[in-house]
Amino acid sequence: MSKPILIVGSGLAGITVAREFLKLAPDQDVLIVTADDGGFYSKPSLSTALAAGKQPAQLMLTPADVLARQTGVRILPHVRVERIDTAAAAIDTSAGRLEYERLVLATGARQIRLPLSGDGVADILAVNSLDDYAEFRRKLEGCRAVAIIGAGLIGCEFANDLRRGGYEVAVHDVAPRLLARLLPPRASAFLQARLEEEGVQFRFCSELAAVHREDGGYRLTDRAGASTRADLVLSAVGLAPAMELAQAAGIATRRGIVVDRLLRTSAPGVFALGDCAEVEGHLLPYVQPIMLAARALARTLAGTPTAVAYPAMPVTVKTPACAAVLCPPPQGRSGTWQESVGPQGARAVHCCGDGGETLGFALLGDAAGERQQLAAQLPAWL
Ligand SMILES: Cc1cc2nc3c(=O)[nH]c(=O)nc-3n(C[C@H](O)[C@H](O)[C@H](O)COP(=O)(O)OP(=O)(O)OC[C@H]3O[C@@H](n4cnc5c(N)ncnc54)[C@H](O)[C@@H]3O)c2cc1C
Repeated sequence: MSKPILIVGSGLAGITVAREFLKLAPDQDVLIVTADDGGFYSKPSLSTALAAGKQPAQLMLTPADVLARQTGVRILPHVRVERIDTAAAAIDTSAGRLEYERLVLATGARQIRLPLSGDGVADILAVNSLDDYAEFRRKLEGCRAVAIIGAGLIGCEFANDLRRGGYEVAVHDVAPRLLARLLPPRASAFLQARLEEEGVQFRFCSELAAVHREDGGYRLTDRAGASTRADLVLSAVGLAPAMELAQAAGIATRRGIVVDRLLRTSAPGVFALGDCAEVEGHLLPYVQPIMLAARALARTLAGTPTAVAYPAMPVTVKTPACAAVLCPPPQGRSGTWQESVGPQGARAVHCCGDGGETLGFALLGDAAGERQQLAAQLPAWL
């Protein structure tokens, strides 16, 4: 019997590559092995669902059985891959050994955990899947005050969503301002002011040291000794590629699983894409690069080797308090920010040299309308 193309993971990356490949090669055997239930949902909607009045179950777009019927993919849900044996072209899973013809790693990323002390640390929630989100919403019931750790993209989106959902929200960050790695100072202050107008509180330059249980909630204490109380603590301090399986199998990893533009790892017949992959030095944990990678890989698997190419890809920050579109400069390129801030918007353009090439931008409020025009001037990322 022929062996399947085996995909580990049923996130956007795993499911999209299966769908796209089966469009090109409908008679091929494709098997997705996944630790979750194998259904397709939109992860970006997790940080906007509360204010949209959506329950977690309503976020499932295509349950696994429907996906299997629609596309012809086979799905093994709730099965954990424990080991890859590249020499035998097989994987060991919680449901036994499976052989593959080619293997695609789409294992995503894991939430980074801060080194905090205290008996409340184990209760800190992080949301990186629909299951995580369902747990978060269950625990939110009966709460009033939520502390968010991390004023990055996801932290700001959850802050805005929770505030609109009627919760008190305080965002803690060790940095002196929000989105400190993506925005220059005045643009950062503009977005902060819009979120504060909605009632979000920020505690910057606050390095958390401990989270203790207290009166049915939590006390958060920073290294300077300042402390605050919350009913629930949500961590949004970033993600790290899930590459343990690849590492243990001797597949090359750096910041992620190392792949070339054909999405090939260092092991023959093994590919990687999505949040787990580092494509020629780039970690791009966003929807659009994953879609491009999945389409390219599908063609490669179907017999037409196709290198992935990345244009500059702006990311929308889903903060209804303030429209925000960010496009960081390509990796390895840097210049200076030119900012102009008015009452209704902030425009920051990242330029190389004096009045030189536009490398990236951040557009807030009214200025977000310039997205298309500026994006057209940017150099490709890869
Ligand atoms: C709250 C939130 C909001 C976001 N908003 C945006 C946005 O607005 N725009 C944007 O571009 N991006 C956004 N992103 C990022 C984007 O959603 C992700 O980059 C993308 O969904 C990642 O898909 P993935 O398939 O690579 O990984 P994942 O979705 O993490 O999937 C990984 C899969 O691998 C499986 N898996 C892992 N290890 C194993 C194992 N050992 N055995 C079996 N299965 C395993 C998991 O069960 C899962 O099915 C957001 C992310 C979050 C968390």
